[in-house]
Amino acid sequence: MKRVVFLALALLVTLGCEKNSYRKGSPYPAAFSCDTGISPYNLLKTPGIYLSVRLNRTTGKLHITDSNGGKYDEPLTDIQSRQFTLGLAGLILGIPSLSENGQICAFDLGCPECDESSVRLKVDQSGNATCPKCERVWGLNNNGIAISGKARPLYSYSVTYSNGILTILN
Ligand SMILES: [Zn+2]
Repeated sequence: MKRVVFLALALLVTLGCEKNSYRKGSPYPAAFSCDTGISPYNLLKTPGIYLSVRLNRTTGKLHITDSNGGKYDEPLTDIQSRQFTLGLAGLILGIPSLSENGQICAFDLGCPECDESSVRLKVDQSGNATCPKCERVWGLNNNGIAISGKARPLYSYSVTYSNGILTILN
C-alpha cells in the first residue's frame, strides 16, 4: 500500500512539474487597444487571419502586417497613444482558425527563446510563426505551442473585448 501511495505521489509531482515548467502569459508589459470596426483591425473578425502590430520608430506609426501579406501604416489614435506598450517586440492578434469560442488571442511578436526586441516572428498564411534567428516555429492556431523542436510557448496576453473595442493590458 505504501508503495502505491509513493508511486501516486511521484506521478503527481512529475505531472505538476510538466504543467508548470513554463509560466503562462508574458513577463513584458503591454497596453494597446483598437477598434475592430475599422481597417485593418476589421480583419480580426475572420478566424485564421493574424495581424502583426509593431511601432515603426522612424515614422512614429504602427506598422501592421496581415498573415496574407497585406501591409498597413496607421497613425496612433488618441486612445492608443495614451496607453501604449507592445510587449517585447510587438503583438500578434487574431482568432485561431479552430477556435471554439471565437475569441481574439494576443501573442508577443518576439521570439520567446531568443528574447530580443529586434527579433520578430514572421507569420504565414497557415498561421505559423517562424523565428528568423533560431528558426523555431509556433502554431498560432494551436495556442502558440511550438510545432518544431522543443521550445517554450509564445508569450501571450489576456484580451478584453467590448463593443468592438479590443484591449490588451499586461
Ligand atoms: Zn528565436
